[in-house]
Amino acid sequence: MPSASSRPRGLLAGLVGLQLGLAADLGLFPQPARSDLRWARGVFPIVHFAGYTSHFGRRTGPGGGREMHSGLDIAAPLGTPIRNWWGGTVADVFHDSGCGVGVVIRSGEYEHMYCHLGGTVLGDTYASGPVLLRRGQQVRASQLIAHVGMSGRTTGPHLHWGIRYRGTWLDPGLILRAMVRGRRLQPQSPQQFSQGRK
Ligand SMILES: [Zn+2]
Repeated sequence: MPSASSRPRGLLAGLVGLQLGLAADLGLFPQPARSDLRWARGVFPIVHFAGYTSHFGRRTGPGGGREMHSGLDIAAPLGTPIRNWWGGTVADVFHDSGCGVGVVIRSGEYEHMYCHLGGTVLGDTYASGPVLLRRGQQVRASQLIAHVGMSGRTTGPHLHWGIRYRGTWLDPGLILRAMVRGRRLQPQSPQQFSQGRK
């Protein structure tokens, strides 16, 4: 579990004990816009959040043409730890010219992809510092799975985070909002939690 000091602005406070749900549960609520307590189990993947550099959807590409951006770009310093959004199985590790070094985790009907990572891919294994991920391996929510790098097509260190549901890319921004709403629905809010520990 993340230590208190590593939590980004309290966003993840109060999540202890909520990450034990079966990944298959995710398939029960495919609409991220819906208010649902279960979304609160999701974990924001960047420990040291610096800002968003590119949103999901159509954008102007480096060549000036319009292109579809299938994820959310989250700026962070090189080497920033990346945590797993939802418990699941390592579906793929790869290195290509666009995504660079990439990891895909499958959680039920969802796949979440992490691009431009540091570290290396050798065969079916991704390695970065203490992290070793092999295809088929189980990973917990919030588990350290990678580090921010500059591999692939990128002009600066950031995480490209993509989420697919049954093969269709979703806007991770909507999912983040659903996670925040889910947290507000929790009987014990993070504020109450910290007040109780004074
Ligand atoms: Zn991107």
